[in-house]
Amino acid sequence: MDKIHLNKDALKFRDEILGSPGGENLLKCYACGACAASCPVREVDERYNPRRIIHMVLLGMREEVLRSDFIWLCSTCYTCSERCPQGVRLSTIMQVLKNIAVREGIVPPSFQMQLKAIREQGKLYEIEDFDNKKRSRMGLPELEKKCPDVDILMQGGTLRDVK
Ligand code: SF4
Ligand code: SF4
Repeated sequence: MDKIHLNKDALKFRDEILGSPGGENLLKCYACGACAASCPVREVDERYNPRRIIHMVLLGMREEVLRSDFIWLCSTCYTCSERCPQGVRLSTIMQVLKNIAVREGIVPPSFQMQLKAIREQGKLYEIEDFDNKKRSRMGLPELEKKCPDVDILMQGGTLRDVK
């Protein structure tokens, strides 16, 4: 691994997270690993390690963190936040990292596709004729392919504007 040089820019990233709501206790992390040990995502993918991500943030590895697929794997289950003895709100920090990545246009293609699907049809998954046939066999009403209120909401309307 390349040497890590702590410079002012590195500290700026750390301070950015420290100054974000939920990031206040970042420096209290003492690397106990309780977050990694209790993370359900890590249970299925050993490469994912929330403790490592926190330490990359502490070392100011901005590009590496924001460009990493791993921040997107966090399911925001809050287990790590519940278990952290130091009150590091890791799940909130993951959200902060995702928000910064989005602001900088670093969004994995799969999330962009999900966003497109929600914008266009108001649903994450397309409703096919096959789905409605299955529903009708089970006595369930048909689902519309496009949520009728999505255009109102996407044009800045609120739920109050939806009939
Ligand atoms: S549980 Fe908390 S203190 Fe322990 S490594 Fe994770 S973030 Fe750090
Ligand atoms: S909030 Fe994210 S990092 Fe924390 S335990 Fe859940 S999946 Fe793992």
